[in-house]
Amino acid sequence: MRNRTLAIIKPDAVSKNVIGEIVSMITQAGFKISGMKLIKISRQQAGVFYEIHKDRPFYEELLDYMSSGPIVPIAIEKENAVEDYRKLIGATDPQKAAEGTVRKLYGQSLAFNAVHGSDSDENAAIETAFFFSHSELVDNIR
Ligand code: UDP
Ligand code: MG
Repeated sequence: MRNRTLAIIKPDAVSKNVIGEIVSMITQAGFKISGMKLIKISRQQAGVFYEIHKDRPFYEELLDYMSSGPIVPIAIEKENAVEDYRKLIGATDPQKAAEGTVRKLYGQSLAFNAVHGSDSDENAAIETAFFFSHSELVDNIR
């Protein structure tokens, strides 16, 4: 089934100037872009986005990181989008990520790992709606 997921190019990758390289990897892998923007979010907005992790020990550091500089949320679609995009980015820890994955190529550490990817269709819909209103999304799904 053709569906959508949410990618985010995180502040470390934006400051490394590799937005184009990462977008290229996404489109080369067969994803269509339905929405994309360069924005900076507040610490409070980051807290809402990552609410699911509020009890984890890395939560405060994660909010500092995600609000530290511009990010690029990208709504993307493809058959099996959630799973295939997570395969493309690799394991959360760049050191454990497979060769050729986005995190292996551009991540620096478990915390600063270059990109985000939704983990389910349900969360993909919630996370996409966090960054994009309905009218900001192009519907490539037909
Ligand atoms: N993170 C961290 N320390 C950890 C686990 C995660 O700093 O031990 C950060 C990292 O930036 C990660 C994000 O928190 O991408 C969300 O964690 P999650 O377990 O959801 O990993 P993901 O879904 O991004 O692979
Ligand atoms: Mg996650």
